[in-house]
Amino acid sequence: MDLKEKIRVIEDFPKVGISFKDITTILDDGEAFKYTIDSLIDLVKDEKIDIVVGPEARGFLLGAPIAYALGIGFIPVRKPGKLPGDTLRYEYALEYGNDALEIHKDAIKPGQRVLIVDDLLATGGTIASVAKLVEQLGGEVVAMNFVVELTGLKGRDKLEGYKVNSLVQYE
Ligand code: IMP
Repeated sequence: MDLKEKIRVIEDFPKVGISFKDITTILDDGEAFKYTIDSLIDLVKDEKIDIVVGPEARGFLLGAPIAYALGIGFIPVRKPGKLPGDTLRYEYALEYGNDALEIHKDAIKPGQRVLIVDDLLATGGTIASVAKLVEQLGGEVVAMNFVVELTGLKGRDKLEGYKVNSLVQYE
């Protein structure tokens, strides 16, 4: 299947000059959704994965079905104040200001082999922060799987040392 055909590109969203890659047109197409989840799993078929971690919100939509299919758990990473238990927080710099992500402190057991999943790799800031949280809890990041990679933003360079996989690439 040509997955690129299933992705809707919306110009000037959320602001002028951004060419937004919309994966809701994969999610609402049963065949494309199944193909995407199966393909993301296939990328790590030779790895032993203990748990899947994904950031809100689109990381949930992809990470949870992968975890379900593998018969393993899923851990959400969220914006501050959303997770009810004891959390670990990681703050990271944006173009203007800061943002932060949180994970439940007891979610990962030391030594667990973790697959990180999100819809799209842009600058890599989000996923680098997710990896920091996983590693601070003693998890080992086995791979980072994305549906889309915006290669021109060089997120891969920020993620040196990690196994970075994507199904569809845009410049
Ligand atoms: P990064 O931190 O710069 O790599 O940005 C990646 C994050 O921004 C991911 O969580 C994406 O969901 C979101 N994102 C950035 N650009 C797009 C886009 O074009 N489509 C969908 N999500 C995007």
